[in-house]
Amino acid sequence: MANIKESLCVHLDQLQGGETQEIEFNVSPEFLDVQENDGFLAKHPVQIEGQAYIAEDYLVLDFNIETAITLACALCNTEFELPVELHHFLHEEALKDIKKKKFNFSDVVREAIILEIPFYPLCGGKECLHRGEIEKYLKKENIEETHSPFADLE
Ligand SMILES: [Zn+2]
Repeated sequence: MANIKESLCVHLDQLQGGETQEIEFNVSPEFLDVQENDGFLAKHPVQIEGQAYIAEDYLVLDFNIETAITLACALCNTEFELPVELHHFLHEEALKDIKKKKFNFSDVVREAIILEIPFYPLCGGKECLHRGEIEKYLKKENIEETHSPFADLE
């Protein structure tokens, strides 16, 4: 899998003189090198499309990134798929920071995807699909423990 990661490169030599390089990759998500504490799983191919060019002293990447990541719902803990669709994700890298005229953008894509992880992931997107079941359970507990039906009568 190191080969995939290696292939996600822009060669500055090909961009000299104002050339634009078309980028098109559809690659296994293993290059994302997901760790346990990243908070997501990557099971789907990652599609990277766009352009790379040099503007002034910067390498500019203008990417569309599409994939889906697997998250656990913050409320019910069910695993669910979150589509990631980034359009015109821009990254600028100073040319002076690029070693050997070759820029590997695998980490740029990885960071872009990680930024899409919601702070509070919910299995239904904006809500938890199992919220009803969980609330029923919580309410039952509440009533039994803290609320007596006769308390209001006094
Ligand atoms: Zn849920």
